[in-house]
Amino acid sequence: MAESGDVSPREAYHAVFSEMKKHHEWFADSIPLIASENIPSPAVREAILSDFGNRYAEGWPGERVYAGCTYIDRVETDCAQLARRLYKAEFADVRPISGVVANLVVYSAFTLPGDTMIAPSIPAGGHISHGKREHSGTAGLVHGLNVEFYPFDAERMNIDVDKTKKKVQERAEAGKAPTMAMFGGSLFLFPHPLRELADFLKGYGMHINYDAAHVAGLIAGGAFQDPLREGADTMTMSTHKTLFGPQGGLVLGGAPHEESIKKATFPGMTSSHHIHHMAAKAVAFAEALEFGESYAQQVLDNARTLAESLSDMGFRVLGENGGFTRSHQVAVDVLKYSDGGRVEADLEKANIIVNRQLIPGDIKAGRNYFHPGGIRLGVSEVTRLGMKKDQMRQIAEMIKRVVIDGRDPAGIRAATRQLRQDYQKVRYCFDAELGAYEYVKLR
Ligand SMILES: *Cc1c(COP(=O)(O)O)cnc(C)c1O
Repeated sequence: MAESGDVSPREAYHAVFSEMKKHHEWFADSIPLIASENIPSPAVREAILSDFGNRYAEGWPGERVYAGCTYIDRVETDCAQLARRLYKAEFADVRPISGVVANLVVYSAFTLPGDTMIAPSIPAGGHISHGKREHSGTAGLVHGLNVEFYPFDAERMNIDVDKTKKKVQERAEAGKAPTMAMFGGSLFLFPHPLRELADFLKGYGMHINYDAAHVAGLIAGGAFQDPLREGADTMTMSTHKTLFGPQGGLVLGGAPHEESIKKATFPGMTSSHHIHHMAAKAVAFAEALEFGESYAQQVLDNARTLAESLSDMGFRVLGENGGFTRSHQVAVDVLKYSDGGRVEADLEKANIIVNRQLIPGDIKAGRNYFHPGGIRLGVSEVTRLGMKKDQMRQIAEMIKRVVIDGRDPAGIRAATRQLRQDYQKVRYCFDAELGAYEYVKLR
């Protein structure tokens, strides 16, 4: 595209739409395997287009700062009720506009700057919103938390329970016990040992938050751990990863935490809470209540099949002794062929969209985020499109041709397009007339 200074405003205006249309066409032909993404239903997209997106509704339903909220209040009341039902929670705040904001709500409600939080490190699956100040992580940089990492067992790809206990005990003896424990992560193959650690951590007075950003749709479908039953005080999430809603956030917790969470969300962390996205969350929660179980089960089957196929073809798939995965994700060490950055770029040329991934051992070996040792694959979106185990085997074969056989990626594109032909609608939703990636023109 030309520099915007060289073109007329009208040309620049049209260019925006033409690029977006090309994006839609590209994704309709591709294999989307980004584990943090999903495809929402046409109903979710309709809610996002509504006039709710042009309004303010600061405060709580019935206690707003502006007039004009009659219908917004009804939808938001329903939305919170659907969220509570979906996650069997006493309290839900549906206003946080993203997963990071949901985490900030919990940091603000339950810790003070200078407190310590224990969380997974990034190569061990943690998210940058749990991170240290020196890495520009949200917890450290924005809320001033000190962050300690859980000891991690790279063989089992999980938090090491015994070493964690030892570490917490030592810190407590030095008068530096953490006040918050964060579970959940972004590279997340197996349920975290929350049940095993909750009583121990609470013995030190810690608040336990579970960040379900990645696995919210699996928890909703009863196919992963159930954090609020296993000892988490609060649960934060994004609403658009395995849960197939609009981009947004959600905080859940017990009734005793209600007031602190409400105040931290507004006025603490939000002014506008993106009300069109709130309505779209309500739609997605209803869809998850109806279709969540069969969707989540298929996601697990697909991930397991993709992992096993890749392993059979010679890839080093992480988490082998645990059966590779019990989530929507598959993590592959690609150092034998090149590195995660190069593999990501090659696969993109084949219209297979994945992301490079820091894996355990990378930092010690001096590898960085641009050229890490792994790639991460997620099957939520292809599952939403109706793909099953057979298609997972075909996808594994295409990845092998590019990465192991070194075939020209562009030559694989015809095969990816062919595979996508029968999978152009969203499943697991009430209404799906519109194509999954159909571009909607309103002008
Ligand atoms: C994606 C992610 C987030 C951030 O969510 P956004 O909605 O992108 O702000 C937070 N925590 C974890 C574990 C994540 O994977």
